[in-house]
Amino acid sequence: MYGKIEAAAARMERIPHVSPFSFCRNTTICAGGDAPYAFYPRSAEEFCAAVRILRESACPFAVLGRASNVLASDGGFDGIVLKTDNMAALQKTEGGIFAECGVSVSALLAFAAKNGCGGLHFLAGIPASVGGAVFMNAGAGGAFIGGRVHSVTALCGGETIVLPAAACGFSYKHSLFMDRRYYILGAQLSTERADRASVLRQAAAVLGQRRRLPRGKSMGCVFKNPEGASSGALIERAGLKGLRIGGAYVSCEHANFILNRGDATAAQIRRLIETVRDRVYAESGVRLEEEIRYIGEF
Ligand SMILES: Cc1cc2nc3c(=O)[nH]c(=O)nc-3n(C[C@H](O)[C@H](O)[C@H](O)COP(=O)(O)OP(=O)(O)OC[C@H]3O[C@@H](n4cnc5c(N)ncnc54)[C@H](O)[C@@H]3O)c2cc1C
Repeated sequence: MYGKIEAAAARMERIPHVSPFSFCRNTTICAGGDAPYAFYPRSAEEFCAAVRILRESACPFAVLGRASNVLASDGGFDGIVLKTDNMAALQKTEGGIFAECGVSVSALLAFAAKNGCGGLHFLAGIPASVGGAVFMNAGAGGAFIGGRVHSVTALCGGETIVLPAAACGFSYKHSLFMDRRYYILGAQLSTERADRASVLRQAAAVLGQRRRLPRGKSMGCVFKNPEGASSGALIERAGLKGLRIGGAYVSCEHANFILNRGDATAAQIRRLIETVRDRVYAESGVRLEEEIRYIGEF
């Protein structure tokens, strides 16, 4: 693998990069090993060129936004990370906003307020990129980004395509992008006309409600909610609040959050996730499904 990675990296040297890339320092859970390289394309063209080179070199790669929903193994990732932070263009358009995949939710909301674009406030406080949010169909309080997507610009094979929302397969914490090797380059989001003060007020109200969420190193909710039930409630009912493996523990405030005390390994976090899943199943007969995504070998 080393040869393929080095060959691909050499062909991409003009794209900003770091070597090595630490998952421990760059994910919100602050755990995991390294990847030999992370590249930070500055435009859709640079991203597409990088993917072409990686494919031609048969080099494994992983696309990351803000890395707020991923757990990388302690052994890291034997491939190249494409991190979208530098793809951060925003444009006011007819009926909404076009955001490149690397735009952070906080930058999106600041831009929406400045331009009098309402309806995206439910995203406030989610530490996501637009690409990661579209991929995960992120949301809160019963609203999901898929409900605000007009269309997604994506790299499909070697081609850039525009998918209308109806073709994006949005459902609860799911999108088409999980099932196909399409990469999200940007999204056209539909908004409503609103004044700056009301956009800011609504976002502040959402942030206020989110103050109850646990603080610290986490990936947010670990498990999806099963139909008609709450994973947090099931975990709490199984008596698992506070359960600890090494430096990883189940939050006592919100049982669907697993926190890293600071020194947890990815293996400990993974073992705790599996323990919680098994004990909830034994207690309630409900099999919880992870919302988070794994990177590397566990
Ligand atoms: C404190 C905290 C609170 C949270 N609260 C919420 C919440 O209220 N609601 C909610 O839904 N989530 C929440 N999350 C989870 C997380 O923020 C979301 O899932 C978010 O959408 C992930 O975005 P990201 O940019 O960090 O994606 P990443 O974690 O970087 O990536 C997640 C997945 O998306 C893929 N991906 C990312 N960008 C692209 C792209 N451009 N093209 C193709 N694939 C891509 C990655 O390959 C990966 O599989 C929370 C997380 C934390 C840490």
